[in-house]
Amino acid sequence: MTFAPDTRTATLPTQSTYQNRVADYWNAEENPVNLELGRVDDLYHHHYGIGEADWTVLQEDDPELRRARLTAELHRLEHAQAELLAGYLGRLTPQDRVFDAGCGRGGGSVTAHLRYGCHADGVTISAKQAEFAGAQARKRGIDDKVRYHHRNMLDTGFETGAYAASWNNESTMYVELDLLFAEHSRLLRRGGRYVTITGCYNDTYGRASREVSLINAHYICDIHPRSEYFRAMARNRLVPVHVADLTEAAIPYWELRRQADHLVTGIEDTFLDAYRNGSFQYLLIAADRV
Ligand code: SAH
Repeated sequence: MTFAPDTRTATLPTQSTYQNRVADYWNAEENPVNLELGRVDDLYHHHYGIGEADWTVLQEDDPELRRARLTAELHRLEHAQAELLAGYLGRLTPQDRVFDAGCGRGGGSVTAHLRYGCHADGVTISAKQAEFAGAQARKRGIDDKVRYHHRNMLDTGFETGAYAASWNNESTMYVELDLLFAEHSRLLRRGGRYVTITGCYNDTYGRASREVSLINAHYICDIHPRSEYFRAMARNRLVPVHVADLTEAAIPYWELRRQADHLVTGIEDTFLDAYRNGSFQYLLIAADRV
């Protein structure tokens, strides 16, 4: 007796239903806070910001000017975060490759390239973002070194051990950490550097607070506890070398953003409450691949 070949495994989607929903979200996303800030200097960041803010922007009487100054100031704080992360990537040369996992509209890869001259591969699950970021790289004339791919960061298909550094800037909450760190560990050469900046829930608070759950619902994500980062890194040959609690440094950005009527998305007070009630932390972790 013969059977028709079982083609079911061959047609399995490379993305889970959940990942399809995340892709739908980012394909449709056109929040002014993500687009208007990027237009300031064509560096598109979809993360938050750190550092002290210039509060004088709020005293600006002219409404047009106030909007423009608020936009520029929030962009400055977001870019400060990208630069902070890039500063932890280690001593990179123009020959090195870096992997930007969950790259959004591409600002992080450009930041690393401008700083080190390195090759960068950005990966996003959103086809639209990859296309947008690629067009930006072409516009800057850096598309020979900075490339964007519509792929799953858990399963990139990139070359094993080919990367000197890799990172997740606010994109770890969309995936299982063990699967994510296994892929970073595979891609990084021995002695390579991994960096993440992420919101995590604070184990000392207990479980995820109401605010953390609201943030999860808002972005369709699943914020991990702080402890899970270190467990999953240890299981995947990633040894932390720097850990910084950026929670305090993140607050001015949110305070300013909540007063930017043209940019708010409605989640601002939830972030501030979550940081202030101790249930949520903003963390930078840099680790070496051993
Ligand atoms: N790191 C970027 C964007 C952060 S927003 C920045 O700093 O600007 C979160 C990003 O994670 C989005 O680009 C989204 O498409 C991406 N993402 C979520 N799940 C993913 C997955 N499984 N594979 C690749 N990218 C993913």
